[in-house]
Amino acid sequence: MPANKKLLVLPGDGIGPEVMRQVRRVIDWMDRKRGVSFDITEGLVGGAAIDAHGVPLTDETLAAAMASDAVLLGAVGGPKWDKVAFDKRPEAGLLTLRKELALFANLRPATVFDALVDASTLKPEIVKGLDIMFVRELTGGIYFGEPRGIEDMGNGERRGVNTQTYTTTEIRRVAAVAFELARKRGNKVHSLEKGNVMESGLLWRQEVTRLHQEEYSDVELHHMLADNAAMQLVRNPRQFDVIVTDNLFGDILSDEAAMMTGSLGMLPSASLGAADANGNRKAMYEPIHGTAPDIAGKDLANPCAMLLSFAMALRYSFDRAEEAGMIEASIQRVLSGGMRTADIMAPGMARCSTTVMGDSILRELDKLSA
Ligand code: NAD
Repeated sequence: MPANKKLLVLPGDGIGPEVMRQVRRVIDWMDRKRGVSFDITEGLVGGAAIDAHGVPLTDETLAAAMASDAVLLGAVGGPKWDKVAFDKRPEAGLLTLRKELALFANLRPATVFDALVDASTLKPEIVKGLDIMFVRELTGGIYFGEPRGIEDMGNGERRGVNTQTYTTTEIRRVAAVAFELARKRGNKVHSLEKGNVMESGLLWRQEVTRLHQEEYSDVELHHMLADNAAMQLVRNPRQFDVIVTDNLFGDILSDEAAMMTGSLGMLPSASLGAADANGNRKAMYEPIHGTAPDIAGKDLANPCAMLLSFAMALRYSFDRAEEAGMIEASIQRVLSGGMRTADIMAPGMARCSTTVMGDSILRELDKLSA
């Protein structure tokens, strides 16, 4: 890999800097032991940027993000900034990044590590070996469609309006991401909509079918109504490999799938933009969890979601699937060895700090590369 791959690191607020510190250690390890090097820029986002610059994202940091091959973000927000004006909130920094980088495909894996199978609220035999990749459309649909708003109907009644809209292009580009991912995994895609009651859902189904016939007929494709998928996810989740769906259904169902894995501290995500002429995409990688103000600064946070987000960056932005697999395997081994941060603690296991979890993962990486 050329040494000039650009990575922008934005630790953010709360536990963000603590979990990102463990990623920096793994990045150093990759440089020393695997010859995987990055040009790293570190910046401020969210509350940290508000404190330093009065805005949640400076133009310089945004420019650095636009110039990067990938952005690695911790989390933003916290009670300290609750009273900041709406458009200056820490979250506005995150939303601006997603919008400016045009990150339309949100990838959220729902993976159950063998050692954590008992942390799920579902029976072990249902979730053991679970490995679903959710692809949620992120920049269209009902959260953005016009018209929208609350109108006064003049007779004491009010009307709230949101509009679900999708175009051919919006559907095809996110479906293409799902098909491409499936080819590298179990070669199966479930596309979810409500085409039985929504025209936008019908169009979704038609466009996914057309793209499949034109370019991805080697991939197994199933259409499923989103409400049925909600049931199937808790009944027999292992039938799924890649799931692609719109912004609203994806928001809800990816959270449902995430909870089957047992802990927020274990879940990474990726958001991808359009591919350029060389096939490179703008991309941002971040854990699902927030800033966890209740445990921030105490060396208690689970760094695994952040580390797994970096592993996704290695796999999807830097073509380093082998190194990504090494991080995942190291985490699996540390958990199997009984080491647990407080959020995933279980009887008979050894409770450890963020730093000790990082130490243990680095030790496993050493063993894997020996
Ligand atoms: P949260 O994810 O921060 O925390 C929820 C619970 O899970 C807390 O008890 C927390 O201690 C625990 N937890 C979360 N991540 C953990 C980890 N890695 N290790 C151990 N325990 C962990 O959600 P919240 O409490 O609803 O939000 C707190 C703040 O984070 C808010 O300001 C919110 O706006 C922000 N937030 C940011 C993002 C983001 O930046 N993407 C996402 C969600 C929430």
